Amino acid sequence: MASALIFSLFSLLIIPSQSPQAEAASANTNGVKSVCIIGSGIGGSSVAHFLRQYSSDPSLPSVGDIRIFERNGVVGGRMATVSIAGDTFEAGASILHPKNLHALNFTQFLNLRIKKPSSASFSLGIWDGTQFLFKTLDSNSKFPIFQKILSYTNSLLMFFRYGFSLMRMGSFVENAVDCFSKYYMGFDSRPVFETVEEMLKWAGLFNFTGRTLQEELVDAGLSPLLITELVTVITRINYGQSVSISGLAGAVSLAGSGGGLWSIEGGNWQIAAGLVNHSDVVMHLHEEIESISHLQGFYELNSTKGNSYSCEVTVVASPLDELNIRFSPPISIPARKLQHTYTTFVRGLLKPEYFGRNSVSEIPELVGTIEAPDLPFSSISVLKKYSEKDMTYKIFSRKPMADALLDHIFSVRKETVRINWGAYPHYNAPEVFAPFMLDGLHLYYVNAFENAASTMETSAVAAENIARLILSRFSGQVPSRSSGLKSSTTGGEFLHLDL
Ligand SMILES: Cc1cc2nc3c(=O)[nH]c(=O)nc-3n(C[C@H](O)[C@H](O)[C@H](O)COP(=O)(O)OP(=O)(O)OC[C@H]3O[C@@H](n4cnc5c(N)ncnc54)[C@H](O)[C@@H]3O)c2cc1C
Repeated sequence: MASALIFSLFSLLIIPSQSPQAEAASANTNGVKSVCIIGSGIGGSSVAHFLRQYSSDPSLPSVGDIRIFERNGVVGGRMATVSIAGDTFEAGASILHPKNLHALNFTQFLNLRIKKPSSASFSLGIWDGTQFLFKTLDSNSKFPIFQKILSYTNSLLMFFRYGFSLMRMGSFVENAVDCFSKYYMGFDSRPVFETVEEMLKWAGLFNFTGRTLQEELVDAGLSPLLITELVTVITRINYGQSVSISGLAGAVSLAGSGGGLWSIEGGNWQIAAGLVNHSDVVMHLHEEIESISHLQGFYELNSTKGNSYSCEVTVVASPLDELNIRFSPPISIPARKLQHTYTTFVRGLLKPEYFGRNSVSEIPELVGTIEAPDLPFSSISVLKKYSEKDMTYKIFSRKPMADALLDHIFSVRKETVRINWGAYPHYNAPEVFAPFMLDGLHLYYVNAFENAASTMETSAVAAENIARLILSRFSGQVPSRSSGLKSSTTGGEFLHLDL
């Protein structure tokens, strides 16, 4: 059982002058005067985008100024690139699923170019620290027909090792993806959600957060071999964690290993940049918010630059777990740890001896690992092959890769770049969720949804719901059956228009 430790960030010192219900009901029915968003990743930029898009409907509240605060000098957050030896690679969020509809719409809206992975099949090896437990075939031939034959042969090899469990894994993932697709339904059939739990229950995803991936997959009839090898390799690559993550985070992670994956030519961060540029936003780069105080009907945000801003609505679009923002009055959210993923980029060449091979060409392009003590990395993959003796690699690990360790694994190292990401939640089924509305008023939290799963698309989906939640609560109208308006709450204190 996950510990549902509720912690209070600061003791309750200031009591709001009105009850939350009274203040929400008395919200300005002429519109939202000002919105402050903390964080310019896909979550924060999507909130701005959807607020602008939806408020252009004259029947909905208008939205005045939108400010986005970003402590870094660039937008994008965990969508970031790294340059190594003159080439640029994704350093954080790299791939999108073909059914990530918000990301696809943003790409089209912003005129960005889609980058598809190379059609040539890449080789995979599952390493246990001493030997490859499984290895697909590799070939240098670039002939499409040869690549096709190779791909079929590798599928057969997989089937011989894991059997029909592979199909059961596919069905498990497909079911979760289908449930998630409900978040793209129109306003008529999709309520506005006040809590993450409601949102997940409505889509049929909540139960997946109550049990571990391992429990879900055993029940789905997967063999222990598939779970301890291929599934583990995937969860270690995508979330740096074992199959004890929740079933939902696991399903999302497995979906991220299928076919048709894509990214944005030139870097995924351009989605955030484009949304910010098209949303009539005042962007404050290099401005870190250190305190948020609720005063009479507005929030006062103070930054480390000594500036102060007033906003009617405030949206936190960053995980709060490692931040030191002071809230007044204090907020209370469940304790959550972030999983740190160390991403190391090396331009150089692997040592074949480290993998018990005679030549580098015998090392698979993607080396994934199982859960074994003392394994120093989760995966090593080739990002770019300049020649047989010169490549750029990406390594994921749970601990920093020290120079001595890298020298043990690499025979040549021309350049090394290290990034320590507070990457995603350390998943712990059954998951407990922070509220979307941190104070019951107009302080919102996009990354409450990250306990369900952490991806660019899940952030956009949560952001879209928050934009609707803000507008529906500002409309000040009570939904009625006869008008066909719907709320996700039954008899709740805050009633929503179905936007
Ligand atoms: C190594 C790695 C690989 C990943 N791979 C994938 C992948 O392949 N596909 C995928 O879909 N997802 C992937 N993810 C997950 C994905 O990156 C995140 O789920 C998503 O980008 C989160 O976006 P966000 O906007 O919610 O948060 P963030 O991107 O973290 O944005 C929050 C922003 O808030 C800023 N901020 C924080 N505090 C303050 C403050 N006090 N004042 C001002 N600004 C502040 C931060 O600087 C940051 O820019 C990966 C993540 C990592 C780390």
